[in-house]
Amino acid sequence: MRIGVHVRVSGGYAKATDYAKSLGCTALQIFSSNPRSYRVTKLDAPALAAFAAMRREAGIDPCVIHTPYLINLASDDPKVLAGSMGLLRADLASAAAGSMAYVNTHLGSYGTRDRAEGFAAICTALETVLEGIAPGVTLVLENSAGAGNLAGGTLEELGRFVQAVNHPQLGVCLDTAHAWASGYEINSAAGVDQFLTQADEAIGMNRIPVFHFNDTQVPLGASRDRHFHIGEGLIGFEGFRALLAHPDMREKTAILETPGEEADDQRNMQTILAIARGVSGSAEGRAPQIQRS
Ligand SMILES: [Zn+2]
Ligand SMILES: [Zn+2]
Repeated sequence: MRIGVHVRVSGGYAKATDYAKSLGCTALQIFSSNPRSYRVTKLDAPALAAFAAMRREAGIDPCVIHTPYLINLASDDPKVLAGSMGLLRADLASAAAGSMAYVNTHLGSYGTRDRAEGFAAICTALETVLEGIAPGVTLVLENSAGAGNLAGGTLEELGRFVQAVNHPQLGVCLDTAHAWASGYEINSAAGVDQFLTQADEAIGMNRIPVFHFNDTQVPLGASRDRHFHIGEGLIGFEGFRALLAHPDMREKTAILETPGEEADDQRNMQTILAIARGVSGSAEGRAPQIQRS
């Protein structure tokens, strides 16, 4: 597996790359613009090309762009829909310019809209933005925590999007904290195996290149989107160990979106890398002791 963290790029791409390297990342995720604004930042092709070169040098690949949170492809407000599609297109273009393999997006909320109508609207929006996608970039739809009328809360629904749109550059990203919040009990080997089997049936593992590895403290099925430190929440060491050990996960990329500052990133990366070494059975690596508080 390739493993990395979500990194801030506000201090520049060089700083972000150095930071990811210092943490031992072999992958990373960024926001390309303000995650809470509809304003599209002008694409800086030379800077993005330089970023690609820095990552290549540091052995950090792939890189994921996480689109802004405002995106709502299910909205029946034409302004919101146009803004959302603009942001999505901008991130797909940035990804192409910076040799970033994945753009990860939330789908948004059906709101008061009829779900079938909202589903069709999302498919149309996805088809439209995918018309302009460059080779080498894949758009991945992130599972939601399942709150209220959020789209994409179940594996089956994500699978229906992928099948309905049917584009080779469309896939899925599964966030472990969101999956837990929508009721998938991934805190044991049996639970993880069942989850990945269901994911394969509904979506196809070959269409799920990216995972977000986040622990969580919210109760199973609570539909709340709260991320916590790896191994310190309810998914726990057992859940992440099972994910890292699963044969279907070998070729995947995992991004940590855990809270806190540099010391927390260091601790979370050390934990996940220690679990990874433990499951790969390398001589120097040993899995951390399982402790549940
Ligand atoms: Zn997300
Ligand atoms: Zn996520």
